[in-house]
Amino acid sequence: MSILTKEEKELIDEKFRDLLEHCQRCKTKVDQDLVRKAFNLAKEAHKNMKRKSGEPYILHPIEVAKIVTYEIGLGAKSIACALMHDVVEDTDYTLEDIENQFGKKIAAIIDGLTKISGVFDNKLSLQAENFRKMLLTLSDDVRVILIKLADRLHNMRTLDSMPHNKQMKVAGETVYLYAPLAHRLGLYAIKTELEDLSLKYHHPKIYEEIQNKIRDNEKRRVTQINRFSFPIIEKLENSGHKFEINGRPKSIASIWSKMQRKGVPFEEVYDLMAIRIIFEPQKGTPEKTQCWNIYSNITDIYMPKPDRIRDWVSTPKANGYEALHTTVMGPDGKWVEVQIRSKRMEEIAERGYAAHWIYKETGSEEGELDKWIRKIREMLENPESNALEFLDEFKMNLFASEIMVFTPKGHIKTLPKDSTALDFAYEIHTEIGNKAIGAKVNYKLVALSHVLNSGDQVEILTSDKQTPQREWLDYAITAKAKSSIKDSLKADTKNRIQKGKKILERKLKEFNLIPSSRIFKKLLPAYDVITKDELYSKIGTGLVTLDDLKKVLRKKSKNKWIRYWELQFGKSSDKKEDENRTNRPEKSEKFDYKTPFILRENIDETSTSYKMAKCCNPIPGDDVIGYRSEIGDLIIHRSKCPKAIKLMSREGDRIVSTKWTTHKILSFLANIRIMGIDRIGMINEITNVISKELNVNMRTVNIEVHDGIFDGTLDLYVHSTKDLNNLIMNLIKIKGVDSVKRIEAPEE
Ligand code: MN
Repeated sequence: MSILTKEEKELIDEKFRDLLEHCQRCKTKVDQDLVRKAFNLAKEAHKNMKRKSGEPYILHPIEVAKIVTYEIGLGAKSIACALMHDVVEDTDYTLEDIENQFGKKIAAIIDGLTKISGVFDNKLSLQAENFRKMLLTLSDDVRVILIKLADRLHNMRTLDSMPHNKQMKVAGETVYLYAPLAHRLGLYAIKTELEDLSLKYHHPKIYEEIQNKIRDNEKRRVTQINRFSFPIIEKLENSGHKFEINGRPKSIASIWSKMQRKGVPFEEVYDLMAIRIIFEPQKGTPEKTQCWNIYSNITDIYMPKPDRIRDWVSTPKANGYEALHTTVMGPDGKWVEVQIRSKRMEEIAERGYAAHWIYKETGSEEGELDKWIRKIREMLENPESNALEFLDEFKMNLFASEIMVFTPKGHIKTLPKDSTALDFAYEIHTEIGNKAIGAKVNYKLVALSHVLNSGDQVEILTSDKQTPQREWLDYAITAKAKSSIKDSLKADTKNRIQKGKKILERKLKEFNLIPSSRIFKKLLPAYDVITKDELYSKIGTGLVTLDDLKKVLRKKSKNKWIRYWELQFGKSSDKKEDENRTNRPEKSEKFDYKTPFILRENIDETSTSYKMAKCCNPIPGDDVIGYRSEIGDLIIHRSKCPKAIKLMSREGDRIVSTKWTTHKILSFLANIRIMGIDRIGMINEITNVISKELNVNMRTVNIEVHDGIFDGTLDLYVHSTKDLNNLIMNLIKIKGVDSVKRIEAPEE
């Protein structure tokens, strides 16, 4: 018993009649019978099914069949397959049933379609390379791919009725896999629609905004186009050409993608005019000749840009695209792109190679189609146009706020834009992040700070000896990575303190002492530290060895207190007051621009009371000043930083004078430039010197060699200017090195 109402049944039959009537390529009785037979089977198979929207299910295969024939230009066999594409997957009918009734060929296509769906449903994501391979193995017949594209297009057109999470998944796959595939096959109209629909679901606000702007600007645009076109129309008509001329409509997705890529507002993209001239071939004149005749007519009116001619008439693009493109200077003094093509070329441009068929009066369907299929297979099989090119196309489809990257196994991970290899490592697993030492991006070795792009394939290299580093916080951008690193650093600090505490207790025991406030009053100033924990921490890392503990304990405490005071507040003439104030050392943390703020090394590595300015990257030992921001942060600039000079002149009351204490645990980023004469082994020697230099960690090295001269920049982590100067001295000793300089302000 069917659940369909009488009205629904009538609607189904009406839609099917419509399909048959408008099918240019199934005019023979045999073809019509085939399509009808397929329709009857599908109707029966899906009779108790509804779509999420509440419509009878069979309407979906009918719509897919319409796309297959109207929009891609395929014939009866493909229509039959489109009608039955969900039968084996979703109903009790088996592949054998299909084969018995329709033969091997159609059964094979249905099999391919069923398998493709399976792959997409079971795995969340596919890597481009796998996608291509899968297409090749599952589709002996390229019609499988084309019908799948039609299926996807209809699903995108009706995505409204799906739940939100499903919408996101489908839209994501569409823009990253299906739209590039459609592009590859030369199906421009479908590619454009898929992209627009994906954008509509991914970024509904942006989509709507651009849509509205297009509407608002339409009149102005038409006027511009007309002004440009009238002289051309007149001239071409006088020369006897039959043609259409129109302003090429830009898709919403392509406008958005251009705005993103070039960082320009809507108007700037939209105002770039592109005109298309589609001509009817003149009897006896080759299309190519006519293209150039028209080109000649146009350039009589407008000046062409000499290097902007693209002749895809003589050598069509791999996907079949043919046209002559030129750019000319329009009446408003703006460049206008003009595309010249015949009606046949236009069909191919919009609908792919299958459209070719329409222009062959005698060509049999299979003959022409086979040619196209062979061409596509060649394209997919060609090792030179393989995954990398696919990935490039993916990259063009980027949305600004996020990137999609692949694991070595082909799973997609979505990360915020500007994520680094380190973020990716933590995205996979906290332990992978904690043990990460580097990464391979598209099989190339890179540092953890490497910024990822959409489509990258990323493999993380790990080592059991690795532990999270404080500088990782400088280039981890996801919340997950940051909090994992901080947790681990906090645990480190705690361990260090525990270790230091034990060492100190053991040492004191040798003198029959136990830790007491009296003893700390001696120890803290002696070792240039302010808190007990700081002392423990420095002992724990071995920065304080306690070799002179006996001497320290014996010394009278009073002098030490003065030293301590000086350390905290600078030299003061009024020493009486010192005694009172030293009981509250926290005071020194408060902003006060009369006495210098002490930039001490904070042992809790995740929270510092001051921040280094990104513009000049100060390191301990530099001449610095502090700037108190509106929200209360103290930002440290180098005194010669141009930004600091500006701040000092404008907002003097926010300037805080500052002073360094010794820094031995934390590292700071410094950039140096190194130049000289290249020789064999030079770069090796440079990196050797750096890695041997104590207290210096390399972040990135970038050395270029031109005509025997090398010029490189190094990003390094150092504890202080002292360490940096040592390194610079050692680098300059290398034979051939001409100059080594710290970069004062990173180039913009
Ligand atoms: Mn379907």
